[in-house]
Amino acid sequence: MTDTFDVTEDLSSSSSLDLQAADIALDAAPIEPALPNGFVLLGLAPELVQAVEDLGFTQPTAVQERAIPLALPEMGDDQASDAGKQRFIDLMVSSQTGSGKTAAFLLPVLHTLLTQQQQAAAEERLAFERAAQEAAAKGEAPPKRPKRKDPTNARHFKPATPGALVLCPTRELAQQVAHDGIDLVKHCRGLRIANVVGGMPYQLQIAKLQNANLVVATPGRLLDLQRSGQIDLSQVQFLVVDEADRMLDLGFSDDLADINHLTEQRRQTMMFSATFAPRIQQLAMRVMHDNGASVKRIQIDNPQEKHSNIKQVLFWADTPQHKRLLLDHWLRDSKIDQAIVFASTQVECD
Ligand code: AMP
Repeated sequence: MTDTFDVTEDLSSSSSLDLQAADIALDAAPIEPALPNGFVLLGLAPELVQAVEDLGFTQPTAVQERAIPLALPEMGDDQASDAGKQRFIDLMVSSQTGSGKTAAFLLPVLHTLLTQQQQAAAEERLAFERAAQEAAAKGEAPPKRPKRKDPTNARHFKPATPGALVLCPTRELAQQVAHDGIDLVKHCRGLRIANVVGGMPYQLQIAKLQNANLVVATPGRLLDLQRSGQIDLSQVQFLVVDEADRMLDLGFSDDLADINHLTEQRRQTMMFSATFAPRIQQLAMRVMHDNGASVKRIQIDNPQEKHSNIKQVLFWADTPQHKRLLLDHWLRDSKIDQAIVFASTQVECD
Protein backbone atom coordinates (compact mmCIF):
# COMPACT_ATOMS: atom_id res chain seq x y z
CA MET A 1 0.00 0.00 0.00
CA THR A 2 2.76 2.38 0.92
CA ASP A 3 4.59 1.42 -2.26
CA THR A 4 1.59 2.32 -4.38
CA PHE A 5 1.26 5.66 -2.66
CA ASP A 6 4.95 6.40 -3.21
CA VAL A 7 4.71 5.66 -6.88
CA THR A 8 1.68 7.93 -7.32
CA GLU A 9 3.42 10.73 -5.55
CA ASP A 10 6.51 10.25 -7.63
CA LEU A 11 4.55 10.33 -10.85
CA SER A 12 2.60 13.45 -9.97
CA SER A 13 5.68 15.34 -8.85
CA SER A 14 7.68 14.34 -11.90
CA SER A 15 4.90 15.37 -14.29
CA SER A 16 4.64 18.78 -12.68
CA LEU A 17 8.39 19.08 -12.98
CA ASP A 18 8.17 18.12 -16.64
CA LEU A 19 5.59 20.83 -17.19
CA GLN A 20 7.87 23.37 -15.59
CA ALA A 21 10.74 22.19 -17.71
CA ALA A 22 8.58 22.47 -20.81
CA ASP A 23 7.62 26.02 -19.84
CA ILE A 24 11.25 26.94 -19.46
CA ALA A 25 12.13 25.32 -22.78
CA LEU A 26 9.36 27.29 -24.47
CA ASP A 27 10.68 30.51 -22.98
CA ALA A 28 14.25 29.74 -23.96
CA ALA A 29 13.72 28.65 -27.56
CA PRO A 30 10.40 29.22 -29.29
CA ILE A 31 9.61 26.30 -31.55
CA GLU A 32 9.92 27.47 -35.13
CA PRO A 33 7.35 26.31 -37.65
CA ALA A 34 8.86 23.66 -39.98
CA LEU A 35 10.17 25.22 -43.19
CA PRO A 36 8.43 24.07 -46.35
CA ASN A 37 10.60 21.57 -48.24
CA GLY A 38 12.92 23.70 -50.36
CA PHE A 39 13.35 20.94 -52.95
CA VAL A 40 9.58 20.94 -53.56
CA LEU A 41 9.66 24.73 -53.93
CA LEU A 42 12.36 24.35 -56.58
CA GLY A 43 9.80 22.43 -58.64
CA LEU A 44 11.63 19.11 -58.71
CA ALA A 45 9.78 15.89 -59.54
CA PRO A 46 8.31 14.04 -56.52
CA GLU A 47 10.52 11.00 -57.26
CA LEU A 48 13.63 13.17 -56.83
CA VAL A 49 12.28 14.99 -53.77
CA GLN A 50 11.68 11.60 -52.16
CA ALA A 51 15.24 10.45 -52.94
CA VAL A 52 16.66 13.67 -51.50
CA GLU A 53 14.59 13.13 -48.37
CA ASP A 54 15.84 9.53 -48.10
CA LEU A 55 19.39 10.92 -48.16
CA GLY A 56 18.49 13.14 -45.21
CA PHE A 57 18.79 16.45 -47.05
CA THR A 58 16.15 18.74 -45.59
CA GLN A 59 16.88 21.97 -47.46
CA PRO A 60 18.89 22.87 -50.58
CA THR A 61 22.40 24.22 -50.03
CA ALA A 62 23.31 27.68 -51.35
CA VAL A 63 24.63 26.36 -54.67
CA GLN A 64 21.57 24.15 -55.14
CA GLU A 65 19.23 27.02 -54.32
CA ARG A 66 20.82 29.21 -56.98
CA ALA A 67 21.87 26.76 -59.69
CA ILE A 68 18.83 24.46 -59.88
CA PRO A 69 16.24 27.10 -60.96
CA LEU A 70 18.61 28.38 -63.66
CA ALA A 71 19.50 24.88 -64.86
CA LEU A 72 15.86 23.83 -65.26
CA PRO A 73 14.14 24.71 -68.56
CA GLU A 74 13.01 28.31 -68.75
CA MET A 75 9.39 28.58 -67.70
CA GLY A 76 6.71 30.97 -68.76
CA ASP A 77 6.65 30.57 -72.51
CA ASP A 78 3.75 28.92 -74.27
CA GLN A 79 5.80 26.03 -75.46
CA ALA A 80 7.31 25.12 -72.07
CA SER A 81 5.31 21.92 -72.00
CA ASP A 82 6.71 20.85 -75.37
CA ALA A 83 10.01 19.16 -74.48
CA GLY A 84 11.51 19.86 -77.89
CA LYS A 85 11.00 23.61 -77.56
CA GLN A 86 12.14 24.16 -73.98
CA ARG A 87 15.01 26.62 -73.61
CA PHE A 88 18.02 26.05 -71.38
CA ILE A 89 20.69 28.41 -70.08
CA ASP A 90 24.44 27.67 -70.01
CA LEU A 91 25.93 27.98 -66.53
CA MET A 92 29.34 28.60 -65.04
CA VAL A 93 29.29 27.90 -61.31
CA SER A 94 32.12 28.56 -58.84
CA SER A 95 31.54 26.41 -55.81
CA GLN A 96 33.76 24.41 -53.51
CA THR A 97 33.69 20.63 -53.21
CA GLY A 98 31.51 19.87 -50.20
CA SER A 99 29.02 22.63 -51.02
CA GLY A 100 26.49 20.21 -52.51
CA LYS A 101 27.45 21.01 -56.10
CA THR A 102 27.02 17.44 -57.39
CA ALA A 103 23.30 17.45 -56.57
CA ALA A 104 23.13 21.02 -57.92
CA PHE A 105 23.81 19.72 -61.44
CA LEU A 106 22.42 16.18 -61.16
CA LEU A 107 18.97 17.14 -59.85
CA PRO A 108 17.92 19.51 -62.67
CA VAL A 109 19.33 17.24 -65.39
CA LEU A 110 17.61 14.17 -63.92
CA HIS A 111 14.40 16.16 -63.50
CA THR A 112 14.33 17.09 -67.19
CA LEU A 113 15.25 13.58 -68.36
CA LEU A 114 12.54 12.11 -66.14
CA THR A 115 9.90 14.58 -67.33
CA GLN A 116 10.80 13.91 -70.97
CA GLN A 117 10.61 10.17 -70.38
CA GLN A 118 7.21 10.41 -68.67
CA GLN A 119 5.92 12.62 -71.45
CA ALA A 120 7.13 10.18 -74.14
CA ALA A 121 5.55 7.25 -72.27
CA ALA A 122 2.23 9.11 -71.99
CA GLU A 123 2.28 9.93 -75.71
CA GLU A 124 3.04 6.29 -76.56
CA ARG A 125 0.17 5.12 -74.35
CA LEU A 126 -2.18 7.58 -75.99
CA ALA A 127 -1.14 6.50 -79.50
CA PHE A 128 -1.66 2.86 -78.56
CA GLU A 129 -5.12 3.55 -77.10
CA ARG A 130 -6.08 5.49 -80.21
CA ALA A 131 -4.91 2.65 -82.46
CA ALA A 132 -6.88 0.17 -80.31
CA GLN A 133 -10.05 2.30 -80.58
CA GLU A 134 -9.64 2.64 -84.34
CA ALA A 135 -9.14 -1.11 -84.68
CA ALA A 136 -12.23 -1.76 -82.55
CA ALA A 137 -14.31 0.67 -84.64
CA LYS A 138 -13.28 -1.21 -87.77
CA GLY A 139 -13.95 -4.54 -86.11
CA GLU A 140 -10.28 -5.52 -86.40
CA ALA A 141 -8.09 -7.29 -83.83
CA PRO A 142 -6.48 -4.89 -81.30
CA PRO A 143 -2.86 -3.88 -82.09
CA LYS A 144 -0.09 -5.79 -80.33
CA ARG A 145 2.29 -4.01 -77.97
CA PRO A 146 5.88 -4.06 -79.28
CA LYS A 147 7.94 -6.80 -77.62
CA ARG A 148 10.90 -5.82 -75.50
CA LYS A 149 14.14 -7.01 -77.07
CA ASP A 150 16.57 -8.93 -74.91
CA PRO A 151 19.48 -6.50 -74.49
CA THR A 152 21.91 -9.32 -73.62
CA ASN A 153 21.44 -10.84 -77.09
CA ALA A 154 24.33 -9.62 -79.28
CA ARG A 155 22.02 -9.43 -82.34
CA HIS A 156 20.04 -6.68 -80.63
CA PHE A 157 23.09 -4.58 -79.83
CA LYS A 158 22.65 -0.85 -80.24
CA PRO A 159 25.17 1.74 -79.06
CA ALA A 160 24.20 3.58 -75.88
CA THR A 161 22.62 6.99 -76.59
CA PRO A 162 22.64 8.92 -73.31
CA GLY A 163 20.69 12.17 -73.00
CA ALA A 164 23.15 13.62 -70.50
CA LEU A 165 26.89 13.47 -70.01
CA VAL A 166 28.91 14.46 -66.95
CA LEU A 167 32.68 14.72 -67.41
CA CYS A 168 35.08 14.41 -64.49
CA PRO A 169 38.87 14.66 -64.44
CA THR A 170 39.50 11.57 -62.29
CA ARG A 171 38.15 8.08 -61.99
CA GLU A 172 37.45 8.54 -58.27
CA LEU A 173 35.39 11.68 -58.80
CA ALA A 174 33.45 10.09 -61.69
CA GLN A 175 32.63 7.09 -59.51
CA GLN A 176 31.50 9.35 -56.67
CA VAL A 177 29.27 11.41 -58.98
CA ALA A 178 27.75 8.26 -60.53
CA HIS A 179 27.16 6.91 -57.03
CA ASP A 180 25.36 10.14 -56.02
CA GLY A 181 23.31 9.91 -59.23
CA ILE A 182 22.26 6.32 -58.51
CA ASP A 183 21.07 7.43 -55.05
CA LEU A 184 19.02 10.21 -56.64
CA VAL A 185 17.26 8.02 -59.25
CA LYS A 186 16.22 5.28 -56.86
CA HIS A 187 12.54 6.23 -57.20
CA CYS A 188 12.71 7.04 -60.93
CA ARG A 189 11.59 4.02 -62.91
CA GLY A 190 13.59 3.59 -66.09
CA LEU A 191 16.24 6.27 -65.51
CA ARG A 192 19.66 4.68 -65.64
CA ILE A 193 23.10 5.99 -64.74
CA ALA A 194 26.32 4.50 -66.11
CA ASN A 195 29.93 5.10 -65.25
CA VAL A 196 32.68 5.12 -67.90
CA VAL A 197 36.17 5.34 -66.45
CA GLY A 198 39.64 4.05 -67.26
CA GLY A 199 41.20 1.11 -65.47
CA MET A 200 37.97 -0.96 -65.50
CA PRO A 201 37.21 -4.05 -67.61
CA TYR A 202 35.65 -2.98 -70.93
CA GLN A 203 33.04 -5.73 -71.18
CA LEU A 204 31.35 -5.02 -67.87
CA GLN A 205 31.35 -1.29 -68.57
CA ILE A 206 29.84 -1.80 -72.02
CA ALA A 207 27.12 -4.07 -70.62
CA LYS A 208 26.20 -1.49 -67.99
CA LEU A 209 26.20 1.28 -70.58
CA GLN A 210 23.23 -0.18 -72.49
CA ASN A 211 20.10 1.96 -72.02
CA ALA A 212 21.98 4.51 -69.88
CA ASN A 213 20.27 7.91 -69.79
CA LEU A 214 23.03 9.73 -67.93
CA VAL A 215 26.69 8.81 -68.30
CA VAL A 216 29.39 9.97 -65.90
CA ALA A 217 32.78 9.64 -67.56
CA THR A 218 36.43 10.48 -67.66
CA PRO A 219 37.23 11.78 -71.16
CA GLY A 220 39.84 9.22 -72.28
CA ARG A 221 37.73 6.08 -71.83
CA LEU A 222 34.61 7.83 -73.12
CA LEU A 223 36.34 8.66 -76.41
CA ASP A 224 37.67 5.09 -76.61
CA LEU A 225 34.14 3.71 -76.39
CA GLN A 226 32.82 6.33 -78.78
CA ARG A 227 35.47 5.46 -81.37
CA SER A 228 34.74 1.76 -81.07
CA GLY A 229 31.02 2.39 -81.63
CA GLN A 230 29.82 1.43 -78.14
CA ILE A 231 28.44 4.85 -77.36
CA ASP A 232 26.82 7.42 -79.62
CA LEU A 233 26.93 10.98 -78.27
CA SER A 234 24.55 12.49 -80.83
CA GLN A 235 21.58 12.43 -78.42
CA VAL A 236 23.35 14.26 -75.59
CA GLN A 237 21.24 17.26 -74.56
CA PHE A 238 23.08 18.21 -71.37
CA LEU A 239 26.84 18.39 -70.89
CA VAL A 240 28.22 18.99 -67.42
CA VAL A 241 31.92 19.57 -66.84
CA ASP A 242 32.82 18.98 -63.20
CA GLU A 243 36.07 20.42 -61.81
CA ALA A 244 36.19 22.43 -64.99
CA ASP A 245 39.50 24.08 -64.10
CA ARG A 246 41.25 20.72 -64.28
CA MET A 247 39.26 19.54 -67.29
CA LEU A 248 40.17 22.63 -69.29
CA ASP A 249 43.79 22.46 -68.34
CA LEU A 250 46.42 21.15 -70.70
CA GLY A 251 46.00 17.42 -70.17
CA PHE A 252 42.32 17.29 -71.02
CA SER A 253 41.80 20.17 -73.42
CA ASP A 254 42.14 18.07 -76.60
CA ASP A 255 39.72 15.41 -75.35
CA LEU A 256 37.28 18.07 -74.23
CA ALA A 257 37.49 19.73 -77.64
CA ASP A 258 36.59 16.37 -79.26
CA ILE A 259 33.66 15.81 -76.89
CA ASN A 260 32.52 19.38 -77.45
CA HIS A 261 32.42 18.66 -81.17
CA LEU A 262 30.70 15.25 -80.78
CA THR A 263 27.92 16.77 -78.64
CA GLU A 264 27.43 19.91 -80.70
CA GLN A 265 23.66 19.41 -80.83
CA ARG A 266 23.35 19.72 -77.03
CA ARG A 267 20.98 22.20 -75.44
CA GLN A 268 22.88 23.10 -72.29
CA THR A 269 26.44 23.21 -70.98
CA MET A 270 27.21 23.59 -67.29
CA MET A 271 30.65 24.02 -65.80
CA PHE A 272 31.36 23.61 -62.12
CA SER A 273 34.66 24.47 -60.49
CA ALA A 274 35.98 25.77 -57.16
CA THR A 275 37.52 28.68 -59.02
CA PHE A 276 37.68 30.02 -62.58
CA ALA A 277 41.00 31.71 -63.23
CA PRO A 278 40.82 34.19 -66.16
CA ARG A 279 42.59 31.79 -68.55
CA ILE A 280 40.22 28.95 -67.62
CA GLN A 281 37.25 31.27 -68.11
CA GLN A 282 38.44 32.05 -71.62
CA LEU A 283 38.77 28.35 -72.43
CA ALA A 284 35.35 27.65 -70.86
CA MET A 285 33.68 30.22 -73.10
CA ARG A 286 34.81 28.32 -76.19
CA VAL A 287 32.78 25.32 -75.05
CA MET A 288 29.64 27.33 -74.30
CA HIS A 289 26.88 28.16 -76.81
CA ASP A 290 27.69 31.26 -78.88
CA ASN A 291 31.13 31.37 -77.22
CA GLY A 292 29.50 32.10 -73.88
CA ALA A 293 27.56 35.19 -75.02
CA SER A 294 24.58 34.27 -72.80
CA VAL A 295 26.23 32.20 -70.09
CA LYS A 296 25.02 32.86 -66.51
CA ARG A 297 27.61 32.89 -63.74
CA ILE A 298 27.04 31.86 -60.16
CA GLN A 299 29.65 32.53 -57.49
CA ILE A 300 29.01 30.85 -54.17
CA ASP A 301 32.03 31.33 -51.96
CA ASN A 302 33.49 34.70 -51.17
CA PRO A 303 37.27 34.11 -51.27
CA GLN A 304 37.85 36.96 -48.80
CA GLU A 305 35.66 35.33 -46.20
CA LYS A 306 37.26 31.97 -46.78
CA HIS A 307 40.78 33.21 -46.00
CA SER A 308 39.87 35.29 -42.98
CA ASN A 309 42.37 33.39 -40.81
CA ILE A 310 45.39 34.49 -42.84
CA LYS A 311 47.59 37.09 -41.18
CA GLN A 312 49.91 39.07 -43.42
CA VAL A 313 53.00 40.81 -42.02
CA LEU A 314 55.56 42.99 -43.77
CA PHE A 315 59.17 43.30 -42.52
CA TRP A 316 61.35 46.07 -43.89
CA ALA A 317 65.00 45.12 -44.42
CA ASP A 318 67.81 47.69 -44.58
CA THR A 319 70.12 45.71 -46.87
CA PRO A 320 70.14 42.35 -48.72
CA GLN A 321 72.37 41.07 -45.91
CA HIS A 322 69.80 42.17 -43.33
CA LYS A 323 67.04 40.49 -45.35
CA ARG A 324 68.95 37.19 -45.37
CA LEU A 325 69.48 37.38 -41.62
CA LEU A 326 65.77 37.94 -41.08
CA LEU A 327 64.97 34.96 -43.29
CA ASP A 328 67.50 32.85 -41.45
CA HIS A 329 65.86 33.86 -38.18
CA TRP A 330 62.37 32.85 -39.33
CA LEU A 331 63.44 29.56 -40.84
CA ARG A 332 65.03 28.55 -37.54
CA ASP A 333 61.75 29.13 -35.70
CA SER A 334 60.67 25.68 -34.51
CA LYS A 335 57.00 26.77 -34.43
CA ILE A 336 56.94 26.99 -38.25
CA ASP A 337 56.11 23.53 -39.67
CA GLN A 338 56.11 24.40 -43.33
CA ALA A 339 57.30 27.39 -45.31
CA ILE A 340 57.55 28.54 -48.90
CA VAL A 341 60.18 31.13 -49.78
CA PHE A 342 59.71 32.96 -53.09
CA ALA A 343 62.71 34.48 -54.81
CA SER A 344 62.85 36.60 -57.94
CA THR A 345 65.74 34.90 -59.71
CA GLN A 346 67.25 31.43 -60.07
CA VAL A 347 70.51 32.59 -58.47
CA GLU A 348 68.65 34.06 -55.51
CA CYS A 349 66.70 30.82 -55.23
CA ASP A 350 69.96 28.78 -55.00
P1 AMP B 1 29.54 17.89 -53.08
O1 AMP B 1 29.76 19.38 -53.03
O2 AMP B 1 28.68 17.48 -54.20
O3 AMP B 1 30.84 17.15 -53.00
O4 AMP B 1 28.64 17.49 -51.77
C1 AMP B 1 29.16 17.36 -50.49
C2 AMP B 1 28.26 16.56 -49.57
O5 AMP B 1 27.10 17.28 -49.23
C3 AMP B 1 27.82 15.22 -50.06
O6 AMP B 1 28.22 14.27 -49.12
C4 AMP B 1 26.33 15.29 -50.13
O7 AMP B 1 25.76 14.07 -49.71
C5 AMP B 1 25.98 16.40 -49.17
N1 AMP B 1 24.80 17.19 -49.56
C6 AMP B 1 24.46 17.58 -50.81
N2 AMP B 1 23.33 18.31 -50.79
C7 AMP B 1 22.95 18.41 -49.51
C8 AMP B 1 21.84 19.07 -48.84
N3 AMP B 1 20.93 19.76 -49.51
N4 AMP B 1 21.76 18.96 -47.49
C9 AMP B 1 22.70 18.27 -46.82
N5 AMP B 1 23.76 17.63 -47.38
C10 AMP B 1 23.88 17.70 -48.71
